[in-house]
This record gives sequence, structure tokens and C-alpha cells, in this order.
Amino acid sequence: MPVTVPVLLPLGLPGAYDYLVPEGESVEPGQFVVVPLGTSEYIGVVWRREEGAEPPKIARKKLRAIIEILHDVPKLPPVSLDFADWVAHYTLALPGMVLRMMMSAKGAFQPPAPRYGVRLVGDPPERMTPARTRVMETAANGLTWVKSSLAETAGVSPGVIDGLVDAGTLEAEPLPDWHALTLDLSRERAKLSDAQAEAASELVAHSKNGFAVSLLDGVTGSGKTEVYFEAIAQALERGQQALVLLPEIALTSQFIARCEERFGAKPAEWHSGVTASVRGRVWRAVAENKAELVVGARSALFLPFPDLGLIVVDEEHDQAYKQVDRVAYQARDMAVVRGHLGNCPVILSSATPSIESLVNAEQGRYRHIRLATRYKAASLPAIQAIDMRKAPPERGAWLSPALVEAVTETLERGEQALLFLNRRGYAPVTLCRKCGYRFECPNCSAWLVEHRFRRRLECHHCGKFLALPDECPNCGAEESLVACGPGVERIAEEVAERFPDARRVVLSSDMTPSIADLRETLREIEDREVDIIIGTQLVAKGHHFPGLALVGVIDGDLGLAQGDPRAGERTFQLMSQVTGRAGRDAIKGRGLIQTYLPEYPVIAALVAGDCDSFYDREIEARREAGMPPFGRLAAILVTAGSREAAERYARDVARAAPQAEKIQVLGPAEAPLSVIRGRYRFRLLVKATRESDLQAYLRLWTPQIPKARGDIRLTVDIDPYSFL
Ligand code: ADP
Ligand code: ZN
Repeated sequence: MPVTVPVLLPLGLPGAYDYLVPEGESVEPGQFVVVPLGTSEYIGVVWRREEGAEPPKIARKKLRAIIEILHDVPKLPPVSLDFADWVAHYTLALPGMVLRMMMSAKGAFQPPAPRYGVRLVGDPPERMTPARTRVMETAANGLTWVKSSLAETAGVSPGVIDGLVDAGTLEAEPLPDWHALTLDLSRERAKLSDAQAEAASELVAHSKNGFAVSLLDGVTGSGKTEVYFEAIAQALERGQQALVLLPEIALTSQFIARCEERFGAKPAEWHSGVTASVRGRVWRAVAENKAELVVGARSALFLPFPDLGLIVVDEEHDQAYKQVDRVAYQARDMAVVRGHLGNCPVILSSATPSIESLVNAEQGRYRHIRLATRYKAASLPAIQAIDMRKAPPERGAWLSPALVEAVTETLERGEQALLFLNRRGYAPVTLCRKCGYRFECPNCSAWLVEHRFRRRLECHHCGKFLALPDECPNCGAEESLVACGPGVERIAEEVAERFPDARRVVLSSDMTPSIADLRETLREIEDREVDIIIGTQLVAKGHHFPGLALVGVIDGDLGLAQGDPRAGERTFQLMSQVTGRAGRDAIKGRGLIQTYLPEYPVIAALVAGDCDSFYDREIEARREAGMPPFGRLAAILVTAGSREAAERYARDVARAAPQAEKIQVLGPAEAPLSVIRGRYRFRLLVKATRESDLQAYLRLWTPQIPKARGDIRLTVDIDPYSFL
């Protein structure tokens, strides 16, 4: 009898295919293999057969054999296989697409390229140059240097290093694949305050015996990081691996510095800014259990940890944990699943927890650990609303007199101010004063946003842009175009006029496109080399700026009008986070929120500093409406190149819906963003009670839907966060 095994490929196929195991060989689940498919070869993973399942009957001559078993590549641990199956089942994604996320490190599947370091061994070369002198001085410590870092530290080009190797001054020697952390757990650690110590011991106790979830709910600046470091230390001391997820890669450098201080070595980094070759090495080091501490973006959850002993999800409320394209998953939720499958504790940390996590804590599923005060002398910023109806800004300006005054005072004291507006560019709409023409994206139902710095109009949905014209394309009038509404660039312009002597910086993803630039700007702010920061949500998250005293929110109402069930929660979180940047050290912080709706519950709760009443109301409203976490949602999106085709198909989808008592299908309705990239969009929303098996329902439904023809596409998003 020939032996066959299922092999899952990282492709959009319905499942694993069976392949013949070469004679005399044996394979195990998790092993990487090369197999033929059609006329190509792919790397895939030997999967498991479902318990009790017979191998499918495939005619002998149709059966193809495994081409190569990749013995050099570390196997996917069993828990990764479980996790992939679980995620695919829950999100209704194809299992191969989940595997693809687990394999997103091409370099890991080739034999690692040997790396060479250099060391100072010989005499100076005959011909010395200033650059060569610098290299020799830098390398004088006798250590083996990675070539690129020696060049960088000495401030020379890599060619200079090569020249010194040729001259025999430096000697090349192979570097190990991975520098293990050699953690130094005996380091002197931060002395925890009483409240912190109490939280830490509770956290450590709750994270001691396998799977358990803790919600670390502490105000901004309370020292949550110091507290969960204790739990990380515990996992590492046990000899297990630990993973910290962060929502924003801009946060990683500050975080890594703190880890280094605490544990005596740098953790491995995993995010989109990590180069392909480093990704390959990190992937292998994780799989081989050599990387003990990993810090990364949501995708790090899919790394092949064989012995994970702790997962921390920092800023767990952050929307960045939700991935929407390809496999639509919520990394916070999947972290809990991964913890459960691997019997590993999970810590969710936030100053403004998600409603979901808070309800879980209140219902006793998660341990709720609170830190109510800031560390040491720091007190929470006092928050006030500026009623824009009573004291509006001057015409054409966006800063109210009260905010201008507060900034002036702050600067006089030599402290920093942050002005927050969650809108990139100069102005959200540009129109012609003569004919009323507005610039709209030709591919999307959206206005083009003026980016004055780059001198163009841009679509924030598809990336389309055009040069800012001199005349109206509709009526030909000259100098008739006006910018309506503010973006951060426009606020920066107003700041420059009002505070010409202040050092300013704009922090927005399009103004600081590279991670290196962003890190540099953040460092400048930290070191108080700027006075006024004007920023989008990029500045709202997690940063610690010791000199920041004032946070002014330009438009506190911006997030509220979205017709989105999470709009209130999101606004509350964003405002608390951004104002929470102020007064984190010795100086007193304050937050000012410009609003036309000061009575609105979200704003009122922020001003009153009354988190609890906000959360209570919001939880009650969700419960009444049967919204998550008291009910389940799935969004179905139908798109097509023609409006008619999209609408017709969306109706077909709705018609095919099976009857179910506790499940409602709403729609189809034209999506609020009705066109993106030239594709028309219709939405359906599936709303179910908490007890219903939404996935089973969808699995029953989808085969009933007529086949999508032409360019029609259907996507399913379980637990949607966007309703646009
Ligand atoms: P959070 O994540 O809760 O906003 P952090 O952990 O970032 O707070 O701590 C805020 C600041 O206070 C950081 O600069 C941190 O180093 C400092 N800090 C917190 N706790 C301690 C402590 N026990 N000893 C020394 N510094 C601390
Ligand atoms: Zn567009």
C-alpha cells in the first residue's frame, strides 16, 4: 500500500491535498515539503488527517509524490497546526491562506546564508584614511562585529570595511545564526510602587498555571509595562518563550529599549519594517526555540512558537489588531485562542479596555487587575471641553481663543503642547467658489484630500492623486479653489502663524513615511527638541513624552458621526489615549477638547474623568441592542465593477439565506463608501445571538448562493470593525 499524507499549501485552495510519501521515507505532521501542483512546485506543510478519516481514494496514476522533504527547516509545532485550523474555521478563511500567514518569511525555507562578522586582528594598513581610522577605533574593543553595523557605527561605507579585510587588518569570521538572549534576570529592576507590586503579584499568580486571561486595566502612565514585565520574567525563567504584541510599530523602539534595560538583551522584532533576511532568521529562531522574547505586530501571533509561555497584547483595545484584508481576523481575540490551544497565559493590557474585554472581565472569564493611579508624582491630566458654540475660533482659523491661550502659557513655561487632529493632509474637501465644483475621486465615492506639502490632491481610499490645478476644471475660473475644513497640515500652518518662534513638527503617516524618520521624530519629541507637535492618531498611542504638558484636541466630534456601533467606544478610547500623553512625569498635564457637543455622553465622561459611567452606559446600550459582545456579527460585502451587478448579486445572496430563529440578515444596502477603486459595494449584516453558531449558519448559507460570475466578489468578515 502506498502511503499518502495530506499536504496543505499556502494558497487559496479548499483544503489539503494528498501526496505520496517517497519510498523509504517517512514524514510527520508539521514538516515542510516540496510538492508538485499543476506545472509548478510549492513548499507546503504535511498536515494531519482528521481523526478517524480515511485517506481519500485517488487513482494510483493520479497520485503525485512529494518531491523533497525539507529536513533543514524546523517543523511547525502541533499547536501551530491546531491554531491554523481553528482560525480558518472561525474566520471562514481558506486554511491555506492562514498557513500563508504562518509562512510569511521566505528566507526561513532556504538554508540560512552564512553571515560573516569582522574582527580587528592585524596591523593598520599602509595607506590610512580618516575613514579607516574610524573603523579601527570602533573595532578596537576586539569584538566580532556584524559588517553593516560596524560600517554604520563608524560612519563609513561598507566598502571601507572590505578594504580593511583585504589588507588583513580585519578578519572575517562566521557569525552564529542567532544570538540567544542570554537574559540577565538578576538585573536590578524598577522598584514597584505598592499598587504596582500588588497588581504584579496578582498577575504573576494568575499567569502561573497555563491558560488564563488577565485584563490589566490601568490608567495611562500607571506603569502597566513594568507590571507585565514581571509576568514576562516569570515565563522566561521557566525557560519558555514570550510574545508581546504592539499595535503600532512606531512604538517598538521605545519598547525594545525598555526590554533591553530590564532583561539585558534585545528581543526579536517582527513587523513590516523588518527586512526579509532578518524575518527568515527570526522565524527559524522562534521555531527552534532560540528566540525567547519576541515583540511584534499582530502577524507575530502566527509565528511557530513551540513553547510559548505568555502572550501580552498591549493596548488591547486598538483597532490595529483587526486585520481586514485576506484573512479577516482580530489578533486580540486570536491571541486568547492561541493561548488556550497552547495552554499559555494571556495578558490584555490597556488604559481604555475594549467593551468586549471588560465584559469578559465583569463576567469572570478574565481576571480584572486594575491600576487606578499614575506612577509616582504624576497625576492624570485635567480635561476640559471648549464649547465651540460659545467661543469659536476666528474666521478661517481652527484654534479657539481658549486653546491658543493654553498653548501660549505652556510655551512660556518651557513645556510642550500637542495638537491632535485625526485627519491627514491640508483640507478634506476642495471646492470652486465660482461654480461649486468639488474634487471627487474618479474611482471612489470620496472627496480628494488636499496635501499642500506634496502639492496635490489625494484619495485616501485608493491612493489616486493629481497635481493641484490653478483653475477650476469645471468652469475654468482662476484662483477660485478653496480648501474646506482642516487637516493636520492646515493646523501646522496656523500654528506657524501664531507661534512663529516655536519649534514645530507634524507627525502623520504621510509626512514621516519611513520608520527610521518616525523614530527620529519621536526621539526629538522625547528629548524636548520641539515645542509643538501637530499629529494624527500616530501620536495618540502609548508614547511617553516627559515634557508634554498640554494636549489640545482640535475636533472632538470627528469620530462620532459615523453610524458605527463602535463609534462612541472608539472616540472615548482615542481621546483618553491622546490626552493621556500629557503630564506623564513631574509636570502637570491638561487636556482641552474642542467640541460642538459638550453634553454628548462621550465628551461629558471624558471631562468628568468618569470612565466607569461611560463604560456602564455603553455596555448597557450594547446589551439592549444585542450588539457584540452580547451578540455576534458578520459582515458580507459584495463588490463588482458595475453597480447593477453588485446590487443584483447582493440580493441573490440575501435570498439564499437560510431561515434561522436567532439569526437576522440585514440588507443588502449600498455601503456608506459606495465605490472604492471603481468597484461598487453592497453590504449585508448578519446579526446573531451570542449562543448561535454563526459560522455553522454561514457554512450552510454560502453553498446556496449562486456562483459569482464575472468580476463579482464576495467577502465575509466575522466580528467586523468597519461598516463603511
Ligand atoms: P503605562 O503603560 O501604564 O502608560 P508605563 O509602563 O509606560 O505606563 O510607565 C510610565 C512611565 O513611568 C515610564 O516612563 C516608566 O518607566 C515609569 N515607571 C512606571 N513604573 C515605574 C517604577 N516602578 N519605577 C520607575 N519608573 C516607573
Ligand atoms: Zn479613490
